[in-house]
Amino acid sequence: PTFTIVAGARPNFMKIAPIIHVFQSQQKAGLVVHYRLVHTGQHYDRKMSGDFFDQLNIPEPHANLGGGGGTQAEQTAAIMIAFEKELLENRPDLVIVVGDVTSTLACSIAAKKLQIDVAHVEGGIRSGDLSMPEEINRMVTDSITDHFFTTSEIANYNLRKAGFSEDKIHFVGNTMIDTLLAQMPFFKKPEGQTFENLQTGNYFVMTMHRPANVDQEQSLKAMIDAILEGTGGLPIFFPVHPRTAKNLQNLGIEDPNLHLCEPLGYLEFNYLVKNAKGVITDSGGVTEEASVMNVPCLTLRDNTERPETVNLGTNVLVGTDPKKLKPYLDKIMKGDWKKYQGIPLWDGKTAKRIVDILVKSYS
Ligand code: UDP
Repeated sequence: PTFTIVAGARPNFMKIAPIIHVFQSQQKAGLVVHYRLVHTGQHYDRKMSGDFFDQLNIPEPHANLGGGGGTQAEQTAAIMIAFEKELLENRPDLVIVVGDVTSTLACSIAAKKLQIDVAHVEGGIRSGDLSMPEEINRMVTDSITDHFFTTSEIANYNLRKAGFSEDKIHFVGNTMIDTLLAQMPFFKKPEGQTFENLQTGNYFVMTMHRPANVDQEQSLKAMIDAILEGTGGLPIFFPVHPRTAKNLQNLGIEDPNLHLCEPLGYLEFNYLVKNAKGVITDSGGVTEEASVMNVPCLTLRDNTERPETVNLGTNVLVGTDPKKLKPYLDKIMKGDWKKYQGIPLWDGKTAKRIVDILVKSYS
């Protein structure tokens, strides 16, 4: 069988890496599995893309569509046009998309319109919040998906409720956690002066990139002020997403406890998370990783498409009002936090399950 696997933006790379590694080991074992890796170019700078290929041992993409930049629609259109061409030149049996970014949506539509099957890794999750572009990407992609590879029972439930037949739903676990568990022995302390005096368990990590949190300068400032106030003078390390950088720069916040840096490599970022007192974030993937590493996690959103991180993990939904933060930070400071209880099938073997199912279906 021939598979085309798509990646476009930072949170995609950790999800595709283990699937590609299983493809490679099957090829080594003499099984006839052909794959093409297509990078849509949605994220293109080194810090958001190239470094992950090196650190996660992802081979060079067979094609790069150069679809970065522009508005949501411009980007969707550019990726669709380029990916349709790619598919016409190299028609696979199946296109594999992951996650919930613009590339996920654009490539699944282009494939399905050429009557090529679509597999969605991380299918079925829902926040119910249509103000987030990611939720629209999830809903549209799932509506034309042939194979759902799901991370949770809640995702299975969502899909069944939407009327998808049981034989399309494959509950396999989380490939992002495959990567986390495989790379954990290689986590490394970030280099540079900022991190010189880092003390295990005695600092916080934060990330913010959702439009609702970062597009208004004043609310961004109010949130950072509340974090600084509630963390008792401990250092806060904040790798800044490109989306957040400009507004943060305009605000010119200076505080001896706030350490801003560029986006970190995967091994460095997760070193920071693993050894932190707590994580404050509006990311989806970070809540999963923090949970598995048993690190207290505060999510600056009103909803989540990953409720298992709240029910079984270390995550709490704080919301977007800075006033809500303090009581949670107090609890973390006191060491009074729930422990990770284990999330079913987040065991590091998800990619193998996915490839086994696909090879069986398309051989
Ligand atoms: N991440 C990273 N460096 C950073 C910040 C995040 O490697 O400076 C990783 C993080 O470990 C996780 C992924 O990026 O694997 C999450 O991506 P992001 O927060 O951009 O997307 P989301 O999960 O919210 O879609």
